[in-house]
Amino acid sequence: MTEKTILVVGGAGYIGSHTCLALANKGYLPLVYDNFSGGHEEFVKWGPAEQGDIRDRVRLREVLAKHKPVAALHFAGLIEVGQSFQEPEAFYDVNVVGSLTLLQALMEADIRSFVFSSTCATYGRPERLPLDETHPQNPINPYGRTKHIVEQALRDFDLCNRMRSVMLRYFNAAGADFEGRIGEWHTPETHAIPLAIEVALGRRPHFSIFGEDYDTRDGSCIRDYIHVNDLADAHVRAVEYLLNGGETVDINLGTGTGTTVKELISAIETVSGRPMPVVKTERRAGDPPTLVAGNGKAENVLGWKPKHDINDIIRSAWNWHSRFNG
Ligand code: UDP
Repeated sequence: MTEKTILVVGGAGYIGSHTCLALANKGYLPLVYDNFSGGHEEFVKWGPAEQGDIRDRVRLREVLAKHKPVAALHFAGLIEVGQSFQEPEAFYDVNVVGSLTLLQALMEADIRSFVFSSTCATYGRPERLPLDETHPQNPINPYGRTKHIVEQALRDFDLCNRMRSVMLRYFNAAGADFEGRIGEWHTPETHAIPLAIEVALGRRPHFSIFGEDYDTRDGSCIRDYIHVNDLADAHVRAVEYLLNGGETVDINLGTGTGTTVKELISAIETVSGRPMPVVKTERRAGDPPTLVAGNGKAENVLGWKPKHDINDIIRSAWNWHSRFNG
């Protein structure tokens, strides 16, 4: 029997490439569609790649006709909250226009199972914790709003029987493949774990803690860090759920456990065996003190539970960054 082809849009990026590996391990053929603006050709290892942009409907048509995927996962997009305030037009163009162009091409090709990379940023400021899927969605930055707009379009496409989707709202994706084949590689890097590891490796002089006066157990911000392999596993389950006729659904992907920035630093100090030089810095604009997922729905709908904790995250990230110097 030939393998089922799954279209992985943005499959050369961080979460997309780990999902390609998980799909291949389950016997699917991941077909990467990527413009390689943020993704890396070196990360395409488990199936074919087609270069193209999500705003290019002609190219999408051509690729869909050639490979005939049975479902699509959509990871491509702009992700930096800070950049979304500097260049909101680009976020609307790539994240909204791009996603809608992709969706039109998919529906035209009669592909009606869609897994969407969404974010806990669609909730905005938490009114209560943990954040479950019933929490109101009031994004407070252009990034979160562009993702929320696509979620709403997906609801309408479902209502009109055009497309069924799983909207996966990620908390803080982190960690890497345990064999160090792929990992987190953003340019420029702004995320806490890779930055802190680069400090521990001596590639940066110090780590800046963005605020120590929050109302949390040690004054630094709490986030829910989720291992990228756990995310990848949830995506494979989401595809299978849709291929088995599952209904449109929104699902949080987090561990339900929060870690402070200072706890992250001490975990990295333990793994590296070196003290971390830190600099106390002002709060970063728009950072809520605490973001932690309610993750019961993922278990109920997809049978998914995270397998990895913060120590696995740090160890695998350390392993990747110490081999890699991108
Ligand atoms: N953070 C920090 N120093 C840095 C980068 C991030 O203290 O150099 C903090 C940030 O304020 C947040 C947490 O680390 O509380 C995670 O930030 P990251 O940018 O990794 O992810 P976000 O929560 O913004 O998606």
